[in-house]
Amino acid sequence: MGGDSRVIDGKAFAARLRERVADAVPAFVERARRKPGLAVVLVGEDPASQVYVRSKGKATVAAGMESFQHVLPAETRQEELIALVEKLNADEAVDGILVQLPLPDHLDDKAVVGRIDPAKDVDGLTAENIARLANNDDALVPCTPQGCMMLLEDRLGDLTGLDALVIGRSQLVGRPMAQLLVNANCTVTIAHSRTRDLPALARRADILVAAVGRAEMVKGDWIKAGATVIDVGINRLDPAPGEERGRLVGDVAFAEAEHAAAITPVPGGVGPMTIAVLLRNTLVAAHRRAGVADPQGL
Ligand code: NDP
Repeated sequence: MGGDSRVIDGKAFAARLRERVADAVPAFVERARRKPGLAVVLVGEDPASQVYVRSKGKATVAAGMESFQHVLPAETRQEELIALVEKLNADEAVDGILVQLPLPDHLDDKAVVGRIDPAKDVDGLTAENIARLANNDDALVPCTPQGCMMLLEDRLGDLTGLDALVIGRSQLVGRPMAQLLVNANCTVTIAHSRTRDLPALARRADILVAAVGRAEMVKGDWIKAGATVIDVGINRLDPAPGEERGRLVGDVAFAEAEHAAAITPVPGGVGPMTIAVLLRNTLVAAHRRAGVADPQGL
């Protein structure tokens, strides 16, 4: 992969974004007399989620921000979780609230997320932020699609007039991604599990975003020559003989995409952007809550 100019190095881009965020924190502290704060709420003891929450906490502290972590038992009741969200809404030291999804089955993701103060909704999942994005107003936008957009604009500059296909229509990735691309003047198609003749649609796309969760579903001959491919999928293959864990692959058959002009690898493409954008969104939320103009260059 090294030296291949097609490869979009999300890891390096994310590291630079995290540096820019960290560089902008002291000016905020100077004005607001406090650090920006991010609260992450996890319900249940899923080890992978715990690792993820801990790494978010570490990244938050490394950026010079305050990290608040709330790990609640799996049997937490809906009212208890909502009470915590309300407490965080009222806490002046908290600028961003992220509830790790999906919640255990007995809890209602939408009802809980709906209680987050939209000004602190750094995951961009409340109705107010969805509406603001749809209206092309200043919204807090879900971190992963926002990160994809940054990589696209970094690589392509102005996206006006380009044909974009987004495969996937989740609230977290596909839908906001499509909205961001429309706002950037692309002509956007959204595909999903009921789409007919997906390969033909894909072959027309100058920008192809795959956010499905099916290992290497997008084949080389689905990709138009010169297209820019953003692979959001994270899929673990079954271990090959002698391997302890299977390899991580995306939704795109990376090795078959040699005629793409640019492509994000998995791992090391979109993945690292998510935490970097979470920190960025927290800093932006802190500025807006403090009535300070948005930080520049983020
Ligand atoms: P969801 O499962 O919520 O959504 C998947 C979407 O893919 C759905 O809209 C579904 O369609 C569509 N889909 C399923 N099968 C097909 C098919 N055969 N053809 C076309 N479309 C299909 O997943 P997410 O959006 O949350 O995540 C997508 C992927 O991105 C996952 O691999 C996830 O791990 C990864 N991810 C990576 C992140 C990162 O940081 N890099 C962050 C978030 C997610 P339908 O609506 O009809 O069911």
